[in-house]
Amino acid sequence: MAQLAAAAQTINLPAEIFQRLQKPERVIEVDFPVKMDNGASRFFHGYRVQYSSLRGPYKGGLRFHAQVDLDEVKALAFWMAIKCAVVNIPMGGGKGGITLNPKELSVAELERLTRAFTRAIADTIGPDKDVPAPDVNTTPQIMDWLVDEYEKMVGHPARAVVTGKTISQGGSEGRGRATGQGAFYVFEAFRARHNLAPETTRVVVHGFGNAGQEIARQFFTHGYRVVAVADSKGAILNDNGLDIPALIDFKKAGSKIAGFPGSRDLSDDEFFGLECGVFAPSSLENTLTAERAQNMTCRMVLELANGPTTPEADAIFKQRGVPVVPDVLVNSGGVAVSYLEWLQNKQGEHWSEERVLVQLKELMDKASGEVAATAEKFGVSYRQAAFIVALER
Ligand code: GLU
Repeated sequence: MAQLAAAAQTINLPAEIFQRLQKPERVIEVDFPVKMDNGASRFFHGYRVQYSSLRGPYKGGLRFHAQVDLDEVKALAFWMAIKCAVVNIPMGGGKGGITLNPKELSVAELERLTRAFTRAIADTIGPDKDVPAPDVNTTPQIMDWLVDEYEKMVGHPARAVVTGKTISQGGSEGRGRATGQGAFYVFEAFRARHNLAPETTRVVVHGFGNAGQEIARQFFTHGYRVVAVADSKGAILNDNGLDIPALIDFKKAGSKIAGFPGSRDLSDDEFFGLECGVFAPSSLENTLTAERAQNMTCRMVLELANGPTTPEADAIFKQRGVPVVPDVLVNSGGVAVSYLEWLQNKQGEHWSEERVLVQLKELMDKASGEVAATAEKFGVSYRQAAFIVALER
């Protein structure tokens, strides 16, 4: 809300629109039982927040995580509304989640959970109403279960009810890597302004899930040295640069990065204190606190996570002259390709990866250019500029 208020003030946003963005249009909370493998029923609590439909159907992911609560889902849904406007797709903002640690569930339990949640929210979602997608700990397989259960309920094909599906169920080429790929397009649009050439720019990535792995791979492929990576279990360093494709395989095999050959383990303090060109937070909210921001020595923060920088840390980066390229621009490639998937489903088409990536790049380049120009015009941070671009739309 502080981010919204600052941007609204800069452009004298009409009070009515400001008010409409202060609260979600609708909040859905559900409790539902799931049969566990041992035969007992367990109750789960889930949310879907439909924040804004000013620009189109609600759009945004579903998160399965122990930290999910109403406040978090509301914030994430609000950012979706801003994000879709920044990248200029005709979608509104929504988000959902279930409070649980999915790693404690078997595959069969996860499927029953997803189907039960789908039944619980089925009357509130739909291809022209509200379109979920993957987020933290939710996969294309989970999206397939969701669409299957939804179609059973409505009794007709409705692939466009959810995006991020597997290819065989109507998913789009390029969706899996779209967040990281889009983020790299944004980085390329900004890098010259901040003098970040491959030879001289060390990259640090915090979070090694879908977004973190892909942005690391992009930097690696384009000749940057990705020197340190952290996941939820630990952090590693190799000053000569980590072999990212090998690290991705290593993580897939053992579900952690610690112990990767040729690297050494790092403490949290060491990790956040590393000198680097680009720091890419790619996990959860509030990773970059005031204390960490004070001690970090990087030349750019590239936000792949949603809300990784606290408002206090944001102010410190500003005062220290560290540019922060914001989440609502940087990670919008994910939802942008979700929109392309939705379009393909609606038209009964399947596009080549090349076609998808060309369109993704166009969207990201345009949004990046607009955010950079708006920052210059108003003399504001990239984050405020992104909000202004969105609010004007
Ligand atoms: N969960 C992603 C995000 O936070 C993608 C949402 C979508 O594709 O709808 O942007």
